Amino acid sequence: MTDPRRFIPRTDAVLADPRLGEALARLGRTRVKAAVMDAQRRARQGAITPGQVVEAALDELTRSGPRRVVNATGVLLHTNLGRAALSAAAIEAVRAAAGTTDVELDLATGRRGRRGGTAMAALARAVPDAGAVHVVNNNAAALVLAATALAQGREIVVSRGELVEIGDGFRLPDLLASTGARLREVGTTNRTRVADYADAIGPDTGFVLKVHPSNYRIEGFTASPAIAELAGLGVPLVADAGSGLLRPDPALPGEPDAATWLAEGADLVTASGDKLLGGPQCGLLLGRADLVDRLRRHPLARALRVDKLTLAALEATIEGPPPPTALALHADPADLLARATALAVRLADKGLAAAAVTSVARVGGGGAPGVELPSAAVALDESLAEPLRLGEPPVLGRVERGRCLLDLRALAPDDDRILFDAVVAACG
Ligand SMILES: *Cc1c(COP(=O)(O)O)cnc(C)c1O
Repeated sequence: MTDPRRFIPRTDAVLADPRLGEALARLGRTRVKAAVMDAQRRARQGAITPGQVVEAALDELTRSGPRRVVNATGVLLHTNLGRAALSAAAIEAVRAAAGTTDVELDLATGRRGRRGGTAMAALARAVPDAGAVHVVNNNAAALVLAATALAQGREIVVSRGELVEIGDGFRLPDLLASTGARLREVGTTNRTRVADYADAIGPDTGFVLKVHPSNYRIEGFTASPAIAELAGLGVPLVADAGSGLLRPDPALPGEPDAATWLAEGADLVTASGDKLLGGPQCGLLLGRADLVDRLRRHPLARALRVDKLTLAALEATIEGPPPPTALALHADPADLLARATALAVRLADKGLAAAAVTSVARVGGGGAPGVELPSAAVALDESLAEPLRLGEPPVLGRVERGRCLLDLRALAPDDDRILFDAVVAACG
């Protein structure tokens, strides 16, 4: 076979391409050359074809910031797509907080107030079982803060079945060990009993950690104690719920929620804000007031604190109408099929091959592994996946059995019009 690298155009030749003239004038040779060399590297790796080098360089030079992407994957919380989409209320709150704001000022007295006080109050109202609440940058930060403040130089007792990788190569045990806490692993991968925890607890124990398997399942011959069983061991019980439900959701009966775990005896519950809660990226800490207070006052808390935009979005997510994630989770499959059918009919009217099909959507990286959500999609030829992804706005579908499915569950009805235009453009 001929080595495809032979066909990659030389840097000077690419720089002479008239399509890069405007970028050269505007950004200078150094910047453009770096983009060209990056595109050449991607061509050598086979990520793009040699013929796409100029376009890829141009694309990189004209791109600014993250772009809006239409999530037609049927995965509600897609890590690569930024997890939860904010509600209109949250976006409006972010806009209001973007300038100077009273995030840490009591306007009534003119004095310093508790940072994000209204957001904290909203969170506390949403989970009355929590004695106190605190918010940090993400769930990983919540765990780091808990481990540092409660178990540095001491032990965290945790089941071998719960020492998980959360994604992109990041592993919970490494994260916890990085705080100077020692992990005391108990039980086995598939079975851990209360007695295993009890046997390991001693004067060195900082806390017992329970981690919800939010991105994997252990099936078959398994056992792991419930929160209530672990709550009576005489040391703090920190429970990582991960997915961020504040209250039980009938649509996801197997998914834990902060209110239930606190009622069952967890001393501290941690969760992500941008998973099933449907809010901004943040880490929620809810639980016993004395523990939350120790965390809040720990020097590390300052390095993990959230910005005013996050606080604004979180409060509006909790207090406002259901965010997109909740709407997607509770969408009626019959409504979704009706939307898919209407879309397919309109596309067929344009002479395009499209069919409405039922499909299976998933919650995704944010929780509820294995849960299948009945959904509906517009099925197109597989070859449309790429032009849709490269379109404006980019539309990400799901390639399944030779078809490109545009799954509607993660999308609002208003998005159907955007999908229609995108498919027409991709076919054009
Ligand atoms: C998602 C998740 C994390 C990591 O949360 P981030 O908010 O991404 O830091 C940790 N633990 C569990 C159980 C999770 O589901």
